[in-house]
Amino acid sequence: MQHFRSVLAAVAAIATLALLAGCVVNPVTGRSELSLVSEAEERKIGAEQYVPSQQGQGGTYQVDPELTAYVSQVGKRLAAVSDRKFNYEFVVLNNGVPNAWALPGGKIAVNRGLLYELNNEAELAAVLGHEVSHAAIGHGAQAMTRGTLMQGAMVLGAVAVAANDKTSRYSDFVLGGAMLGAQLVTMNHGRDAEREADQYGIEYMVRAGYDPHAAISLQETFVALFEDKKSGWMEGLFASHPPSQERVDNNRKQVEALMPSLQGRDLEVGEARFRQAIARLNKTKPAYKAFDEAEKAIAKKDYQMALTKLDSAIKQVPEEARFHGLKGDILVYQQHYNDALASYNEAIKHDGNYYDYYLGRGVAHARLNQTVLARQDLERSTKLLPTAMAMNELGKLALTDGNRVDAKRYFQQASLAKGLVGQEATAAFARLDVQDNPAIYAQAEVYADKRGRVLAKVSNRSPVAMRAVEVQFQVLINGQIQQRRVALPALAPNTYADVISGLAFPEGAVWTADMMAVQVVAVGL
Ligand SMILES: [Zn+2]
Repeated sequence: MQHFRSVLAAVAAIATLALLAGCVVNPVTGRSELSLVSEAEERKIGAEQYVPSQQGQGGTYQVDPELTAYVSQVGKRLAAVSDRKFNYEFVVLNNGVPNAWALPGGKIAVNRGLLYELNNEAELAAVLGHEVSHAAIGHGAQAMTRGTLMQGAMVLGAVAVAANDKTSRYSDFVLGGAMLGAQLVTMNHGRDAEREADQYGIEYMVRAGYDPHAAISLQETFVALFEDKKSGWMEGLFASHPPSQERVDNNRKQVEALMPSLQGRDLEVGEARFRQAIARLNKTKPAYKAFDEAEKAIAKKDYQMALTKLDSAIKQVPEEARFHGLKGDILVYQQHYNDALASYNEAIKHDGNYYDYYLGRGVAHARLNQTVLARQDLERSTKLLPTAMAMNELGKLALTDGNRVDAKRYFQQASLAKGLVGQEATAAFARLDVQDNPAIYAQAEVYADKRGRVLAKVSNRSPVAMRAVEVQFQVLINGQIQQRRVALPALAPNTYADVISGLAFPEGAVWTADMMAVQVVAVGL
């Protein structure tokens, strides 16, 4: 119901916007287009969604801040020559899945996993130039104008954190305002937008002094990887950016056409500089491979193997918070909560800005009945990224405190997610709400059978089992109102049962529907 209302509100809002919005000239392509998202809104969306989108995609890569500075420097060189002046920002994410994305307003991210596959700075510039172009042209805002994003968010209610390089331990679902960013960074822009981003990306590379041939070699690498169906790529970059020979050919045509005008210009490839920038990344690759293997072992519930792999990863790169965080997760699975706390503390010591460590530590505290610390950590995790898991845990804590109002609010938010957490929260919410509003969940319909006996069909429309559903019958017999209270001992979720009132119309009497009524008077759980 609430969903329908939201959708209606959104439709009304868009209709209003459509009246207000006019055609605008795209500052990059020069095309006239309808836009429901103003440039100020693009900046606002980018600024608001940047942090939660980073959180949902693995958090920032902290181990090598110089690498982020380097990527940012290359990105800013392209941004400076782009056709739209935003406050562009670039970040490297701690995510092994090869991917890159841009939010409206020029907020851009590259995954660690993509950098392994690049050969030189010009190829990095091709990746970043493409993303700068998406932002400059406003492809995200265009998708929002088409309405493909928000409607999806309304209907789903929660968005799975996709392309995250960790097994979804908590089947994390992003809730609330962060849903928009989660959709924007995982969306497929479509073929035309990709062609456009390639085209202007090459343009910006040339303006910034990079050799545009790298845009061809980059696409060739992608096509080769695509044909290999190498895991990671399919759910990462290729999900939003399907490579094709067509893209290779388009880029080649454009570069060949540009070349005569570039005669005598010193176009940079920057291979040595790039090699140096990613030296540490390459050196630590075996540790991240061990981490990936630990995740696969967790998926098979082989926790001992996972711990062995993680300890090896930690030995190689002890300052990588993610390794300690995953170790904490395994220790939670094994119900070694105090050891889990130690691992999460170590993770937070190295990276105090990733929601997942606070979520894990909050759960460990909760299992140890350390409710104050649990709440503090869980609230902190939801500030960084609102997830169904954290909301569900906060709901349980509120219930322990006897705060039913807060508990219901938390459970209701968590119930929007799919999966086990969503189901658990739905049941927990219903358990509370059935007590508050029994008439919504337990319904009774009165009827009389051929012999004049008055019965009720009593249904349980909740996902929780009901005990002792009590109904009150009122029947007009021979001009007199007769009442009867009947209790049904148990009613399973989403089922119904017939209840005999014990009242009946006399033989031969004529009765009508308005001569009988039934009402649910009490529901026990
Ligand atoms: Zn793209």
